[in-house]
Amino acid sequence: MADYFWCHGPSCHTYTTQDRVRGSKGSKVLRTRKIKQHHNEYYDVNRAWNYFCSTGCQNDFWNKYGNAIRQIAPRTEPLETPIEDPKKTTYQSSYGDYSYTRTTITKLDNAEQ
Ligand SMILES: [Zn+2]
Repeated sequence: MADYFWCHGPSCHTYTTQDRVRGSKGSKVLRTRKIKQHHNEYYDVNRAWNYFCSTGCQNDFWNKYGNAIRQIAPRTEPLETPIEDPKKTTYQSSYGDYSYTRTTITKLDNAEQ
């Protein structure tokens, strides 16, 4: 497994931060950031933070490749999760003379988690 990945943001190497500056005097560049991979028991190869140095770079990636990504797992119809009839409960506040209503939505036991 790789010890690091390069940030997948298509514009990562264009952002002017000091930590992206590389090279010797007279031939400096802004370089894509490295993202260290922590291969511990919590490691999950699918997590976005393994591939993007920032949410800005992740947004850049979606803005450039969103349609191609969407085609990997197209959604042609909506999904549904079976639920019980929602229950409305009105509570009396213990701090003042007002009440509030909460709606409880419970998934049925056979619903996918
Ligand atoms: Zn980046």
